[in-house]
Amino acid sequence: MSFRGAITARCPEGCEESDYEVWSFIRGDLDEPLRESLMAGDINIVRCPECGNVFRPEATVVYYDPRAEVMAFIFPESYRSDEARWRAKMHEDFEQIRGALEADGPISEEPLMFFGAEELGKILQADDDLEDEVRVARYVCEGLGYRMRPVLRSFARGRSLPRMLPSREWKEGEPFSLKETLKALRALLGKNNRLSGYKRWLSELESAKEPPPAAAAKR
Ligand SMILES: [Zn+2]
Repeated sequence: MSFRGAITARCPEGCEESDYEVWSFIRGDLDEPLRESLMAGDINIVRCPECGNVFRPEATVVYYDPRAEVMAFIFPESYRSDEARWRAKMHEDFEQIRGALEADGPISEEPLMFFGAEELGKILQADDDLEDEVRVARYVCEGLGYRMRPVLRSFARGRSLPRMLPSREWKEGEPFSLKETLKALRALLGKNNRLSGYKRWLSELESAKEPPPAAAAKR
């Protein structure tokens, strides 16, 4: 679950320092309201008890969503000028919490690093938009006798492509067949040609020499 931490911060109006409670760890898959708040950019906004000013104190947030395969450290915007130092700190902290987090499954990727929540918010929003396409494609593909299989998430996300592809027959953890996937994509787009993410998948794979990497089998 998500949790808060206490920090001491000074209101930008120059008031006395105060203690505030801010979110320091967010489980995106378990706390939808917090995930949405992060996407909207209004996470960790506090009110100064002295003057009533609303502001965002400097605080680092760890965002984790094993379902979506996102592990991210969000540092305050103002830390950007010292990136190397914070990257080292991130690795140190990540190794400390890794054991506890991996109770829910292995974390294969290096954590993502952000300064300010805006960029991560955009990535999560893009995921949500593609998810709508995955739902439509699943429905069409099932009608065509295909099943949807997960692609390695970081591969799909890095190319802004939907995270599932149709496949006729497969065993968990087995690689995709390039030929079979192309055939299935053409059949899908033949039924619905408005799926722009799947059109991009088709053009990506038409020029590919290797099949897309499948997601690792779940434990
Ligand atoms: Zn104030």
